[in-house]
Amino acid sequence: MGLDLLIKNGTVVDGSGMSRYRADVGVKNGRIVEIGRIRAPAERTIDAEGMIVAPGFIDGHTHMDAQVNWDPLGSCSCWHGVTSVVMGNCGFALAPCKPEDREWFARCLTAVEDIPTEAMMAGIDWTWESFPEYLATVERLPKAINYGMYIGHSALRMYAMGRRGLEERANEEDLRRMAQAVSDAVRAGAMGFSTSRASTHVTPDGSPVASRIADWEEIDRLVGAMAELDAGIFQIGPDISGGEAQRVFLERLRRVALESGRPVMLGVLATRQGVDPNPWDYQTGWLDETAVAGGRIFGQATTRSINAVFSLKSYLPFDGLPNWRELRKLSLEEQKARLADPEMRRRLVADEAQMKPRDSVLQGGGAATTDPRKPDYDNLFPMLDVDWEDPSVADLARQSAKHPVETIIDLCLENDNRVFVQPIVNESPADVLGILRHPRTLATFSDSGAHVCQEMGSSLQTHLLSYWVCNKQQFTLEEAVRMLTFDNASAWELPSRGLLRTGYAADLVVFDEERIKPRLPTVEQDLPGGARRLVQKADGIAATIVNGAVVVENGEATGNFAGRVLKGPVADRYPD
Ligand SMILES: [Zn+2]
Repeated sequence: MGLDLLIKNGTVVDGSGMSRYRADVGVKNGRIVEIGRIRAPAERTIDAEGMIVAPGFIDGHTHMDAQVNWDPLGSCSCWHGVTSVVMGNCGFALAPCKPEDREWFARCLTAVEDIPTEAMMAGIDWTWESFPEYLATVERLPKAINYGMYIGHSALRMYAMGRRGLEERANEEDLRRMAQAVSDAVRAGAMGFSTSRASTHVTPDGSPVASRIADWEEIDRLVGAMAELDAGIFQIGPDISGGEAQRVFLERLRRVALESGRPVMLGVLATRQGVDPNPWDYQTGWLDETAVAGGRIFGQATTRSINAVFSLKSYLPFDGLPNWRELRKLSLEEQKARLADPEMRRRLVADEAQMKPRDSVLQGGGAATTDPRKPDYDNLFPMLDVDWEDPSVADLARQSAKHPVETIIDLCLENDNRVFVQPIVNESPADVLGILRHPRTLATFSDSGAHVCQEMGSSLQTHLLSYWVCNKQQFTLEEAVRMLTFDNASAWELPSRGLLRTGYAADLVVFDEERIKPRLPTVEQDLPGGARRLVQKADGIAATIVNGAVVVENGEATGNFAGRVLKGPVADRYPD
């Protein structure tokens, strides 16, 4: 009896944080069955000499709910060593949804998460109504990676209350139906229930998304439905407006954690924008106090700045200005020709004076790209590399004695794939390091699948390994791998994943620790219906293995779709 897969001569970093060791890894029937100096024959052997063999990375904060329908690969996460994701975060989901409301749901997702409505209408075979039916659909879909999912509050509220869900308090009958749906979803395998109170989450007409209309008693009731089952995580897109409002939000959320006893997860972010931002260590202090008081609480952290992303092929900050608006209607080649014309450049530069002035409102990545203020050129960076050390547009403009707009035009003409980033939160690497080092935060939060042309967070894993481990040596490789694997598997209670151990699922990533690194992002037109999105791949990953099958090899998809749906604990607790 041979092995299905043998990874020979690699160095195992097992996910626990334990020091590395040399060993072969043997896989059979989707599981790790042997670790050592393996003599058994195998159907397929990978020589991992000089490489690290680690558990596949787990990302608990994604929005791949729509994309899973048309992209069996799970990009861009799959290119960064990710083998499992949780989707349905922040209350946004495609289930439950009545057939007549599909386009309305799609438009709301477009407004909040910049997932094009055309892509959703063209790319989804929309067969479900309830959450259990959606979960069953995802089970049937071909997929290269594993997916867990939450039932999302905004979807649930719009399903239960129709258009009233965007305006009104829920009545007793609404609450009863929503609580029942949460309970049914968790029994069917949902990882939990998600919601958002973030001021940046708005519908197509700029009003708050449905979950933001809910009062706290509604949240208590729906999280209470999970407490009755003693199962399910409560994820919330936090109020990040700063000041007293955010502090009041955190106090009230603490009550939910303590009264329900359910694990609560929310983003921990540093920002210098908005009015009176509460520093990240205020937020981590709140995590500690809540835990001491008896709450199970997790902060979600990313590994770099979260940026609004601009490029000639997608958005530029100037797109709404008169001369720019005309220019931007033209083909890429025509735009480049005009951008080189001195008279045109003079007019384009002059336009910028009319832009809306910067104000104290914290804009999310969406509004920052589609409704931009006059850029702060000291906080706008061309991505010349991925090392987070680029000069600002202001620096480059001063060096060449040009107007910053002209500097941007020159950079676009030099390379029409050039991407510019405007950090919105986590502007300072020192803040990010502080958040990541805190013992109650998780390295997750890519938002993968969302903001497809506005942000690019899917590379958070390869950024951690290249920037914080290899370049800055702020974490050992063993620590960083533990953060991406065992810590997240533990927080989401994923059985038999997140460690390289015999008996565990064979979700593995084989990489070169010196070479692993995200590539520069590009804009591609590869969504259903031809819509554009940002794409970012990585170097240095030899193979990504999911449930024993190699799904990506040297950056190329193999055509194996061995991913599964990851279910919450109730589904297995009381087998029939
Ligand atoms: Zn989110």
